[in-house]
Amino acid sequence: MAHQDQMHRYLFENYAVRGELVTVSDTWQQIINGHDYPLPVQKVLGELLVATSLLTATLKFDGDITVQLQGDGPLNLAVINGNNRQEMRGVARVNSEIAPDSSLKEMVGNGYLVITITPAKGERYQGVVGLEGETLAECLEDYFMRSEQLPTRLFIRTGEAEGQAGAGGILLQVLPAQDAKTEDFEHLATLTDTIKTEELLGLPANEVLWRLYHQEEVTLYDPQDVIFRCTCSHERCGEVLRSLPEEEVNEILAEDGKIDMHCDYCGSHYIYDAVDIAAIRNDSAAGDERVH
Ligand SMILES: [Zn+2]
Repeated sequence: MAHQDQMHRYLFENYAVRGELVTVSDTWQQIINGHDYPLPVQKVLGELLVATSLLTATLKFDGDITVQLQGDGPLNLAVINGNNRQEMRGVARVNSEIAPDSSLKEMVGNGYLVITITPAKGERYQGVVGLEGETLAECLEDYFMRSEQLPTRLFIRTGEAEGQAGAGGILLQVLPAQDAKTEDFEHLATLTDTIKTEELLGLPANEVLWRLYHQEEVTLYDPQDVIFRCTCSHERCGEVLRSLPEEEVNEILAEDGKIDMHCDYCGSHYIYDAVDIAAIRNDSAAGDERVH
């Protein structure tokens, strides 16, 4: 099957407003595969994935964005990490039972949304918004108003299309330093809000845009693929291992003969034996010497 997940950017010719339309169904399935997440947690991860994809597409530089929900509820962490190449990964941590019909607030409890933007070059930026809105989309609109002062609307849909679970979304944003009339932006937002889940997930982007805005002049740009990709590696896990207390590592080595490091995001296992560990520590010692 051809890969389906794509990010489409578009522009309204007669308004200072731009849009993004994304579907992330395959990527979502890959993120939740192999985990035993309750259904409402799967849905939150799907919504976070849509949001992160839409957010990374607003970046004007190379870098990555982490969108993280945390709180004191049974779902104490849900995080999606993505970059400007639209490579996405994510994980959730559940510490007690979650009822099948739980709302976002019931799951997260007193919580907040942390958005971390890490440019490939330059300084990291972090924004935090309280989980005051009823939905993730509302919280993110609040974030955009505070951080960029740009009126932004997000439309996030998860559900089924042709028997397959899927997720997708649309972002509308006033162009920076341009005057878009509030009533024009509201008009476009009202049109966008009529999108049905099965249309968004099942129809080609140009058809979705035609259904929503057939009286408007819209330019649709070439799409970008959205894919699942984890950035973990034997080397990166080795760095984590190096930061652990030596005694602890030695104890496990003595007991099991190896250290098994597991990536929460993708399920990969990285195995280190005594020789590997000695090499990792040697590297570290050599590095220290060079510094001093
Ligand atoms: Zn991984």
